[in-house]
Amino acid sequence: MKQQALDIISGQKNYSVTFPETIRSLVQEMEKVSDSLVIIDEAVARIHSQDLSPLLSERKILSVPATEDEKTPAGVNRAWEFFQKSNATKQTSILVIGGGIIQDIAQFACHNYYRGLKWHFAPTTLLSQADSCIGAKCGINLGAFKNQLGVFHSPAHVWICPQFLETLDDTEIRSGYGEIIKLHLTRSESELFRELAVSIRADGWRGPLLGKFIRQSLEVKKSVIEEDEYEKDLRRILNYGHTFGHALEAMTNHSIPHGIAVAWGIDLINYISMRRGVLDEKSFIEVHDFLREHYYWKIPTEVTAGELILGARRDKKVADGKVNLVLAADIGKLTIAPTEFDDELLADVTSYLENHNVISWN
Ligand code: NAD
Repeated sequence: MKQQALDIISGQKNYSVTFPETIRSLVQEMEKVSDSLVIIDEAVARIHSQDLSPLLSERKILSVPATEDEKTPAGVNRAWEFFQKSNATKQTSILVIGGGIIQDIAQFACHNYYRGLKWHFAPTTLLSQADSCIGAKCGINLGAFKNQLGVFHSPAHVWICPQFLETLDDTEIRSGYGEIIKLHLTRSESELFRELAVSIRADGWRGPLLGKFIRQSLEVKKSVIEEDEYEKDLRRILNYGHTFGHALEAMTNHSIPHGIAVAWGIDLINYISMRRGVLDEKSFIEVHDFLREHYYWKIPTEVTAGELILGARRDKKVADGKVNLVLAADIGKLTIAPTEFDDELLADVTSYLENHNVISWN
């Protein structure tokens, strides 16, 4: 059954998410956007060349590799040069096709070019379909550090097409679920997380409820961003798992996929929440057992608690020498705790690495 549109209220301009069932029907929708250029993930352009050809053959295209090295000022500059060479005007729309990396580059570039070009988005990864496609926020990397430059720039429209997920490899599906799990542990009934865990244990990552989990994730995120689009307060809870997740990504030179680092960051922060008496042990164990079973990952070099804390100091949420950690108070209930970079935090992270760490190193 065709999914109903999801309408997002934005302070910039409201937009809709619609759900074309096939890439061919998506292309028909995209072709209706006049005066448009395309920015596309080069792998997606290659893999889906046949279905996308009516769109790609008629428009100027910038084909971009989906790497964290490209998600930088240099990568954004290539997009600006593409707009310039293609004689883009303020009326030109950019059709963006790809995952979170292509989105972040294109969205950042559109925000600044002529003080704002319209961009329309067809997310092609699970992470971008279930999470990053709404909310207007984007970030690009500066040096080794993630998302240090950023803007808010809403899309004009989002199309979620499940056919793209058929060619996405299992690691990327697992990474996408990292953000889905985060959203199912955020501001929602604990039963949502339990249903997700039961389904993945029974049917694996591509079970029959995948579409439902994408929709539920978007609905949780919608409820947060419509209340606090510019991250003044409530939206900070969406950084759950990200403070140490981003630190791990930087330390491993981005060799760990984003959503897998987030899942690991959730486990670590839940452990800290438990040690600090905010989360009960039963809830910690319930989520931890699931993450241990499904998010094991091997990184090339050892990480120490001291290095992770140093990485967390780079977090955008650091203020007055404290980091706003998003702690879990229960399954589906989060709370913000300004936290000192002190011996207690070092002891918490050290204890996690020694006793519960779900990743390992060579
Ligand atoms: P990605 O864009 O890094 O793509 C992952 C891999 O999948 C790449 O190799 C890509 O070429 C390939 N790929 C993409 N679509 C495919 C398809 N349909 N079939 C086969 N291969 C395909 O993946 P991602 O997980 O979507 O994005 C991660 C990035 O998103 C990180 O940089 C993260 O910081 C960012 N992010 C942004 C937001 C936001 O709100 N702006 C939120 C979360 C994450």
